[in-house]
Amino acid sequence: MYDIIIIGGGPAGLTAGLYGARSLLKVLLLERLAPGGQVLTTDRVENYPGFPEGVSGFELIDRMKKQAEHFGLEIRNEEVQKLELSNTQKRVYAGKEILETKTVILCCGANWKRLGIEGENKLVGKGVSYCATCDGPFYRDQEVAVIGGGDTALEEAIFLTRFVKKIYLVHRRDKLRGTKLLQERAKAQQKITFLWETIPLKILGQQGVEGIELQQVRTKEISQKAVSGVFVFIGTQPNTDLVKGRLDLNREGFIKTDVDMQSSIPGVFAAGDVRAKLLRQISTAVGEGATAAFAAEKYLESRK
Ligand code: NAP
Repeated sequence: MYDIIIIGGGPAGLTAGLYGARSLLKVLLLERLAPGGQVLTTDRVENYPGFPEGVSGFELIDRMKKQAEHFGLEIRNEEVQKLELSNTQKRVYAGKEILETKTVILCCGANWKRLGIEGENKLVGKGVSYCATCDGPFYRDQEVAVIGGGDTALEEAIFLTRFVKKIYLVHRRDKLRGTKLLQERAKAQQKITFLWETIPLKILGQQGVEGIELQQVRTKEISQKAVSGVFVFIGTQPNTDLVKGRLDLNREGFIKTDVDMQSSIPGVFAAGDVRAKLLRQISTAVGEGATAAFAAEKYLESRK
């Protein structure tokens, strides 16, 4: 019987693991891939305190993992198939095992949203990408499109300028959503051409991306751009399939918690990008992970 099972090994999960293990609780962290979550797709993290020169997403996660393991956190690569969550009993079905635990901390994060347009699903991995850090180097001296106007789209477009010849940044409004600093940096890049008030209609190509069909939203004019890559950064959706219909979620499907990260079921907590909140950052995820582990400890003490 575990004291805490953490599901998801991004910054929130690893921090919850560090705090739980350091409090000498029996803690297991389950992660279906390698620990890291979306941070691993970030080339340079500039706004996590303590790293004035910035730090790579990979290095930051590696340090977090080592620190948590140093205090005894058990990490297993296992996908969770099912959860049984009641006030009294909590079971986690992972691989071939059924694991009993007194509390659960959900740190399952969020995944990139898809555009849902023709050609997208067919061409994923063949020119359609949701990760510039992973795929950018394949597009050396080529022309690509980036879709979205938030921080991710701007940051990833700026990163892509290292490799590509030209970027069409396609945004559906005439104002960007991303922070002023990133807006200024993106606008200063000669390789980025902004296509304002424009939406993608189709991604063209059979074996690989050959172009994109666009529509200007005011004039309704349709045009095509010959690009060999389409990078989609239009926000994220929470990984809540395991708990849909059982925990209170907000309209967008993120898990609602109280200020101590407890969900609508006592002993079940949520932290990081999967949680309903204002700001999705590494710095907010680690704070929530710490709070969730501490609140889980208090919950365990209250039941003794
Ligand atoms: P986001 O802030 O939700 O922005 C999504 C962008 O995609 C918006 O510009 C939106 O347009 C556009 N969009 C949404 N659906 C679309 C569709 N169907 N077709 C075309 N465009 C569509 O998402 P994000 O940029 O991934 O950022 C998520 C969170 O992470 C934010 O809180 C962000 O600040 C944070 N983040 C921070 C950093 C950093 O601090 N360095 C880096 C990355 C992300 P509208 O503007 O018209 O809604």
